[in-house]
Amino acid sequence: MASLSNDSNENSHFRLAGLDGTASRSIVDVHGVMFGGSELAIAGGPCGVESKEQVFAVARYIAEAGVRLFRAGAYKPRTSPYSFQGLGPEGLALLRAVKKEFDLGIVTEATDLESFADVERVADLIQIGARNMQNFALLRRAGNSDKPIMLKRGQGATLEEWLSAAEYILSEGNSRLILCERGIRTWSNHARYTFDVSVIPAVKAISHLPIIADPSHATGRSDLVIPCALAGVAAGADGILVETHCQPASALSDGQQALLPNDFATLVTRAYKIKDGLQSAKANS
Ligand code: PEP
Ligand code: MN
Repeated sequence: MASLSNDSNENSHFRLAGLDGTASRSIVDVHGVMFGGSELAIAGGPCGVESKEQVFAVARYIAEAGVRLFRAGAYKPRTSPYSFQGLGPEGLALLRAVKKEFDLGIVTEATDLESFADVERVADLIQIGARNMQNFALLRRAGNSDKPIMLKRGQGATLEEWLSAAEYILSEGNSRLILCERGIRTWSNHARYTFDVSVIPAVKAISHLPIIADPSHATGRSDLVIPCALAGVAAGADGILVETHCQPASALSDGQQALLPNDFATLVTRAYKIKDGLQSAKANS
């Protein structure tokens, strides 16, 4: 990929996402959680909002684990039109209730222009999903939002395509942008996608934007989520986005990749330890 070489002329089309030598790294504040600073940012929750009981149960244990951002979709972009599509406005109302009850910041996805304003009113961080990474109208709308945006990498996107998509948001004036690696399609078929750990330091080499890892969608297998999350943190991710459910077997979407409550708590403790280890190694070097 010649166009991603270190030649600054070749990277000049990342006018706003690129490192220009003088700009410092971006830090994005989401409900008091800093993405891109010295601490690890963690967002957790079920794939989708299913019921009040479900979101309250999960919110309770993620808050007890010390996590301050609750992630769940009210609108779900599903591969099949026959799969659970999310509760829509009812789901947003449940997310609002979670925020009020547990004082957790809300991370949730906007899937189209029609529902964007409704999502925007509830979300502290708006997710643009992998399937929408090149939905340029949606990216421009996100660029005009006054809420921070998390842009997932498209399932087959190169780093260049991903950062170009980021430029659509930044060039509309929204500088509060976080990237999220969620796996790409390769020939490997033991997992849902291939978690591209090397893209984390590769992003950091050319962009000031915070980048987080989503090992849940990257692997699609709960037994692979913890090791891949920790690998992402060790590679320099600014945060992790992890799916968890109190009853994965009966989840309406992505149950096979959801961590059980105890495993989620274990991951949080271990992830913070790795981040702390990296910070002290840096301070001592
Ligand atoms: C999700 O976060 O639930 C999701 C659908 O993710 P992705 O866009 O990465 O597939
Ligand atoms: Mn999911």
